[in-house]
Amino acid sequence: MSKGTVDVMPAGTTSGTPQVLLGHHLKQLKLPTVLREYDKVARECARDGVDHPRYLLRLVELELIDRERRVVERRIKQARFPATKSLDTFDFTAIPSLNKMLVLELARCEFILRRENVIALGNSGTGKTHVALALGLAACQKGFPVAFTTAAALVHQLMEARDEKRLLKLQRELQAVKLLIVDELGYVPLSPTGAELLFEVLSQRYERGSTIVTSNLPFEDWTSVLGSERLTGALLDRLTHHVHILTMNGDSYRLKQSAGRRRAAATADAAEQNQATAETGDQPGTV
Ligand code: ADP
Ligand code: MG
Repeated sequence: MSKGTVDVMPAGTTSGTPQVLLGHHLKQLKLPTVLREYDKVARECARDGVDHPRYLLRLVELELIDRERRVVERRIKQARFPATKSLDTFDFTAIPSLNKMLVLELARCEFILRRENVIALGNSGTGKTHVALALGLAACQKGFPVAFTTAAALVHQLMEARDEKRLLKLQRELQAVKLLIVDELGYVPLSPTGAELLFEVLSQRYERGSTIVTSNLPFEDWTSVLGSERLTGALLDRLTHHVHILTMNGDSYRLKQSAGRRRAAATADAAEQNQATAETGDQPGTV
């Protein structure tokens, strides 16, 4: 090599301060928390007289905790929940027909390990979607891959996949999730093909993965959605073989809330009017 030429270092060993190199390597090793924390933790350890193995242990533990959190976040994102709901914000007293102990037990997610199903039945606004979302969130936090969809959206997706000759791929993806949540079976009647495709998905999951279905219709009316009595029978047979039923009949929480708001507004109005009349001295009953 002639004098004056600059030697090119192999990739990964380019010149730079150790911090720059360390930053580069930690990024490559996908250890973002170690990268972010190593300096701060080093100063803390120096201050507290903590030895090297414990310093390294602290850093690695921080990375593990952060990694777990990132995995849960990714799972939640992949589940495509339309909203984040948890049981902490669910008022069980508003729906006495619902077995609270059963819901709390389901939130432990052992039913997913046993590949059992959950069906939430009840009229509109009683918290079926809320409970399904809360169970889905709990499952993500426990480490299970989850997918959330509505019956109509799922059927739409399946039909589209079939037309584009990628039905098998989609079916495999749906089989891979440990908990599939199919919300709102019953609002939209399905075409015969749609019903067949939905049946196929649920029957492929039978004893292989858990499914939560919510519906505003009692079982005896499911034929009106699925079209055929034979198909409904076969679907219910599989879905209800290992199942927990959540009975959620009651007043609509939405209506109750808006009625409550209206009442509160009316009370506030009345109070305002009373105040106004008191101020003008124009009291009712006085001439
Ligand atoms: P459904 O799916 O049965 O029609 P949702 O779960 O969509 O009802 O509930 C409607 C709204 O009311 C949601 O915003 C939900 O979070 C809320 N809600 C319903 N029931 C309860 C409850 N018992 N406690 C707290 N919020 C509730
Ligand atoms: Mg709903």
